[in-house]
Amino acid sequence: MRAAILHEYNTPMIIHNNVVVDDPKAGEVLVKIGASGVCRSDVHSSEWAGVQPIPTLLGHEGAGTVVAVGPDVTELAIGDRVVLMWVAPCGSCKMCDHERPALCEGQGSYELGFAVDGTSRYSLEGELIHHYSCSTFSEYTVVPVEGAIKVDTDLPWEYLALVGCAVTTGVGAAINTANVRPGDSVAVIGCGGVGLSVIQGARIAGASTIIAIDTNPGKLDLATELGATNTINSSSVDAIEAVRKISPNGVDHAFEALGRETTIQQAIDMTTRGGQTTLIGMAKAEVRPSIPALDVVVEERTIAGSWYGSFVPARDIPKIVGWLETGDLKLDAIIERITLDDVNTAFDRIRSGEANRQVIIF
Ligand SMILES: [Zn+2]
Ligand SMILES: [Zn+2]
Repeated sequence: MRAAILHEYNTPMIIHNNVVVDDPKAGEVLVKIGASGVCRSDVHSSEWAGVQPIPTLLGHEGAGTVVAVGPDVTELAIGDRVVLMWVAPCGSCKMCDHERPALCEGQGSYELGFAVDGTSRYSLEGELIHHYSCSTFSEYTVVPVEGAIKVDTDLPWEYLALVGCAVTTGVGAAINTANVRPGDSVAVIGCGGVGLSVIQGARIAGASTIIAIDTNPGKLDLATELGATNTINSSSVDAIEAVRKISPNGVDHAFEALGRETTIQQAIDMTTRGGQTTLIGMAKAEVRPSIPALDVVVEERTIAGSWYGSFVPARDIPKIVGWLETGDLKLDAIIERITLDDVNTAFDRIRSGEANRQVIIF
């Protein structure tokens, strides 16, 4: 199959025509990919040496059609349309039991370069190629059955691909992690694919004030189109002062989708009494924001992390697909359709901040 392989950190991926994909084993399915988004996390994984083993097949935001099932698989059948999830919850660990499958402790190896059984389904001229969760920069992928959620819809692949990461992460952060309620005030720092999904989630939840914060005027225009009531260009004004002009006591909910120390600190400092800061962006380990402990106690202020939108697949994926069908969730404005050959350019455009959501169509 054709696939983009990362052979060395901080080098372009090479697109090969002869990557071998093995048959699915017990508990797995082979999926022909319809579309794959290109996410900032793919770029991080290509740059942060040592975190993901190489050579590897990146991409983790995809959807496609089941074309083969492993022995004993009864949950899915050939021809099923599926959204691929980069966490494939085991269903039996403590976190899964407590309705927190995004934090599943049972199939961790799936994220660290191998299939769940610790081997790989990909190779190139005899050399092992590592998995990257659901590896989607390729014509086919092999995933655990728990990581392929069947959807009964005719929506285009590029929409369904984004449900696999950005949309579930952003909408879930607003609706699940933060539990935004009607009338709440919300600020979102970083208006990429995830931040814009937070804005849409906050709109669906009934937030009355939704403040979009970014340095890119084009992204702020998109934010307005998708539900922001106010925008702040933080390259020209102080974001906290600007938020307090709109919402004098601060906002009920601040979301940070960039993972940067300065903007995380801003998010914390722009919340109100009883407010919550929800961190979504992938931050480096040394990032340590601070908050006065007295405020935490006396004002019951909280900082929450949101991993994969605190998703519960069976509950959330049909709901999100439904919102896409009704038009409550809109993706057309953010999608930029590309091909697999454009994937290195897509990484460059994410690094420069000019890209919206680039989606590889197969
Ligand atoms: Zn992602
Ligand atoms: Zn689990």
